[in-house]
Amino acid sequence: MRILRPRFLAALMAASLLLVGLGVPSQAAPALAAVETAAVPLAKTGVSSVKTTANLNMRKGESTKYAIVRTIPKNTTVPVSQQAANGWYKVSYKKKTGWISNKYAKAVSRHPAPKPKSGPSKKINLWVNATAAVNIRQGAGTSHKIIGSLPKNAAVKAVARASNGWYKITYKKKTGWVSHKHVQTCVKGCQVDTGAYTTNRAGLNDRYFTKSSGTDLYAAAGKRLRIGDIPKNSIVYRDLRWEKAGGPVAGWYFVRTQGMDGWMKASALARKSTAPTSNTKNYTRKQVVKKANGMLPESLLAAIPWDKEKTLIAAPALADLTRMNTAFKKKFGKNIDVDLAYRTLDTQKYYYKELGAYIAAKPGTSNHGWGLAIDVPESHAYSFRGKYYKWLKSNSKKYNWLHRKNLEEFRADGSRNPYAEAWHFEYNGQ
Ligand SMILES: [Zn+2]
Repeated sequence: MRILRPRFLAALMAASLLLVGLGVPSQAAPALAAVETAAVPLAKTGVSSVKTTANLNMRKGESTKYAIVRTIPKNTTVPVSQQAANGWYKVSYKKKTGWISNKYAKAVSRHPAPKPKSGPSKKINLWVNATAAVNIRQGAGTSHKIIGSLPKNAAVKAVARASNGWYKITYKKKTGWVSHKHVQTCVKGCQVDTGAYTTNRAGLNDRYFTKSSGTDLYAAAGKRLRIGDIPKNSIVYRDLRWEKAGGPVAGWYFVRTQGMDGWMKASALARKSTAPTSNTKNYTRKQVVKKANGMLPESLLAAIPWDKEKTLIAAPALADLTRMNTAFKKKFGKNIDVDLAYRTLDTQKYYYKELGAYIAAKPGTSNHGWGLAIDVPESHAYSFRGKYYKWLKSNSKKYNWLHRKNLEEFRADGSRNPYAEAWHFEYNGQ
């Protein structure tokens, strides 16, 4: 049988040479079994189908030494199941399988590139803090789809580590992987994610007061990442649950202040407030508003004497508040409850970020920043329909405390006021 090997066909026809013995290799073929061990897995070459560029012999093995199975016409596309180390393709054509030379077959389609394997991951349980904003990806590697972002300084629990070092985390309900190059791990005194702002101090009663002005609050124990100044005599609550979760460190407490939480040195805290409970130096309102909002010197602040948290207020506002409280107590047999008075700039910024412009005042503009406003609780008795609100609304003016008209439940035209606040009173005395 005459063998027409395509690569020689053209030469044959052009030169009209009679090459005796051209078909000789086929005679050796039956003696050889098809060898497929040298084949390269297709996953590596990626070729999934080829098109013949000549009439091409399909053989039992991956060279011309092997017997011909059949001939595939030029321009036929055939599926590839393997590729040999020498480049030959294993293909199927008309229910037969065999090998064809890659010199006369052009790749026409490829398998999608395989995803890099990250290897098996190991279960872990430690905190990681983002040192920069970092992408959260579906898998452990940059080839995986981005599904979210972990902001700089965010703290999250890592539950697994891939063999390439990436961490598996959950942030804002998205579970994915972050590169180990942009996070810091922590096992003791860690920055922790305490969750929703609204649960901030609920259920806590281990009360302390800061001993000096500028007592620093840190994201992590050991002076890593300072969060902000806490003025002298500010209330903080030690939170043992988060102290344990963050990894206890001797001499450091995990505390919650108004709106913020973090680590403080235990030595910077005392059980009792030492703030004055009256305006001993006769400071005036005018002196107070000259100071930068949210940055009042401690000398201009005083503690509300009947308040268990010794909430700080501008000293000039205290005498009138005390007079109003005396009248309130005579009427209801209890003191006025105060949730909040002075608020530092740091806290204002925090509130603004957490609660948004709708609820929180623009940092640096609130009367709380001068200690010239109080917030009573948002409980029923203090609400627009409540007896305490009604009394305060009609009596506070006598004591130079005002509930502003633009905070009332309804506007002049009878429509509901979306900015209504029953709890906010401001001082406008001397
Ligand atoms: Zn307020």
